[in-house]
Amino acid sequence: ALTTQHLAKSFGSTHAVQDVSLTVRAGETLALLGPSGCGKSTVLRMVAGLERPDTGQGEVGRVEVGGRDVTALPPEARHIGLVFQDYALFPHLSVLDNVAYGPRMRGATRAEAHGRAREALELVNLPELSARKPAQLSGGQAQRVALARALATGSPLLLLDEPLSNLDERLRAELRNDLRELFGRVGAGVLLVTHDQREALALAGQVAVMRAGQLVQTGAARDVFDQPATAWVAAFLGWAN
Ligand code: ATP
Ligand code: MG
Repeated sequence: ALTTQHLAKSFGSTHAVQDVSLTVRAGETLALLGPSGCGKSTVLRMVAGLERPDTGQGEVGRVEVGGRDVTALPPEARHIGLVFQDYALFPHLSVLDNVAYGPRMRGATRAEAHGRAREALELVNLPELSARKPAQLSGGQAQRVALARALATGSPLLLLDEPLSNLDERLRAELRNDLRELFGRVGAGVLLVTHDQREALALAGQVAVMRAGQLVQTGAARDVFDQPATAWVAAFLGWAN
């Protein structure tokens, strides 16, 4: 579903991302895992088209979605469902219209878009709050709406940036189970950004561990957790404690 090659991004003297190449196959979830500030969101934003890869030294960064080179395309032309770290719902729109926004932008009629939105809200177990505004939702509910909005796009690729952040432990555990089931059901490729090892293990078949802008180990989640490639990866995955 997704391939990135040699993605790099600097902000001034900060080398946020250096030479990141990864693949998410259709129907598969890859967790991009690493500590705060290591460059995870920057990778996601380049895949989404919200940030332009550097074209300076070395090989030129490239993003392919569904076999198509989208590197030069704007976000709305990439056909990607996106959940931001801070949900970023439209405050003036109802829950239903927030979720229907993607289909509407792609030319669905109002009725079609609302139908898709209702389906997506049911998938995340939240059909009864359709008329509310985002400010009238709890954190966990807002997070479900953001997920529903990504699902309603019908995109074969979902990008989720810390989709369970800002939730208490109980809700996080509950949503973790829901999400695993949901990913299986929608059959999309998922690139999941998280700094939470348990979340990666629970949700992703593949893991890419990132440190200071670079990938340090990529592979099947079980293999990475069972056989960390370096002492740093082992420590990060909790082997030290
Ligand atoms: P977190 O887990 O805390 O969300 P992250 O892995 O998502 O962290 P990024 O947001 O990708 O990290 O940031 C990587 C580095 O790039 C950090 O040092 C950050 O300060 C820097 N950075 C990110 N965006 C910008 C920006 N727009 N301008 C300047 N520096 C930035
Ligand atoms: Mg981030």
